[in-house]
Amino acid sequence: MNTSSPTGRRRISILGATGSIGRNTLDIMSHLGGRDLFEVPAITGMGNIELLAEQARQTGAGFAVTADPDRYQDLKAALAGSGIEAGAGPSALIEAGARNTDLLIAGIVGIAGLAPTLAAAASGADIALANKECLVSAGDLFTAAIAAGGGKLLPVDSEHNAIFQVLEEHQRHAVERIILTASGGPFRDCTREQMAAVTPEIAAAHPNWSMGLKISIDSASMFNKALEMIEARHLFGVKPEQIEVIVHPQSIIHSMVGYSDGSVLAQLGAPDMRHAIGYAISHPRRANLPLERLDFARLARLDFFAPDETRFPALALARTAMQRGGLQGAVLNGAKEAALEAFIAGRTGFLDIADIVATVMDRLDDGRQAHGIDDVYAADLEARRTAAELMRKSA
Ligand code: NDP
Ligand code: MG
Repeated sequence: MNTSSPTGRRRISILGATGSIGRNTLDIMSHLGGRDLFEVPAITGMGNIELLAEQARQTGAGFAVTADPDRYQDLKAALAGSGIEAGAGPSALIEAGARNTDLLIAGIVGIAGLAPTLAAAASGADIALANKECLVSAGDLFTAAIAAGGGKLLPVDSEHNAIFQVLEEHQRHAVERIILTASGGPFRDCTREQMAAVTPEIAAAHPNWSMGLKISIDSASMFNKALEMIEARHLFGVKPEQIEVIVHPQSIIHSMVGYSDGSVLAQLGAPDMRHAIGYAISHPRRANLPLERLDFARLARLDFFAPDETRFPALALARTAMQRGGLQGAVLNGAKEAALEAFIAGRTGFLDIADIVATVMDRLDDGRQAHGIDDVYAADLEARRTAAELMRKSA
């Protein structure tokens, strides 16, 4: 268990501080009291060394880490004279996660966030989880690590944060269904022919949320919602058939829980991640946050549509991964990350992403289970290799 801070301030470490989640977190922390209230044992970034160093200086961080081992000297130079310790590469990232902290914000994108978040979980820190890949790829191992460490798991993904807010702990047995809302992304009303030709820039232009590049493109393909279905299964212990997805273009209802008496509880708010981040940081209290208040007369209407699974096959792939179990979540995510990176680099088409994931999942459907975290990394690597081979063959 972590020892308490001698300064009496609350300790919050931030993985992925330079990203969209990280910057929103620092904004909320600064609003809630900044350095008077918070100590920052560790923060991490990757390529944006200038911003990482600036954030480290502003927060008085103890340890600043870039995930890129080749950028160590740059980071050290940027921190010169500050007294802040610099680190680089995968082991420093894990060390950043393991540093004594009360709360860890898991805001690294992709499977790269798993090892340092697991290190934080093992140390007993509470985890504010934005990195959905931890649960998609290593769900049971990750929740077991949290339970063993004794910390709380606080969902930051807006849908799961919404469910967390309206899921009455004493009524868990009466939960009938989890209803995840989805904006439908920029291609909600496009044909498959139109989607076949889109560029990464077009796919990244989310209609409602301002987020990092990869999650924005995942929202356009609805792979983001696919990952969130698997995330919900692990977070809330429901069966795959209890998870529904509904397209709600305004992104005002962030998700809902349906109970056995027919009641549905929803959480609403403006589409701004600082709501969920502020909630996770302040839990179990509610803070006073200077965020937009909903004006229902101006909103006037909220729309809902069933998702079109022909144009968005990612949702069915999530269901298949949950039904197959074992390492299929890690395979789905690894293949998706490889195909997404190829799409961003202009090496594959937008619609190919789902085709590649489906083929890789079928090829690696051998019933293998995750006995330890190394099995997850091996499945991730194999999925990436298989995806790369498929893309090479079709090039
Ligand atoms: P961004 O791309 O904006 O930021 C990612 C962060 O991770 C940056 O600090 C980046 O460093 C760092 N990073 C990138 N690659 C690596 C790597 N290989 N190893 C270690 N660090 C790395 O992402 P988001 O903030 O949008 O998303 C972060 C996570 O939160 C994702 O898992 C996403 O799905 C989830 N999430 C995000 C939401 C959002 O609103 N953005 C909403 C819900 C969930 P640098 O920039 O310095 O290169
Ligand atoms: Mg989400």
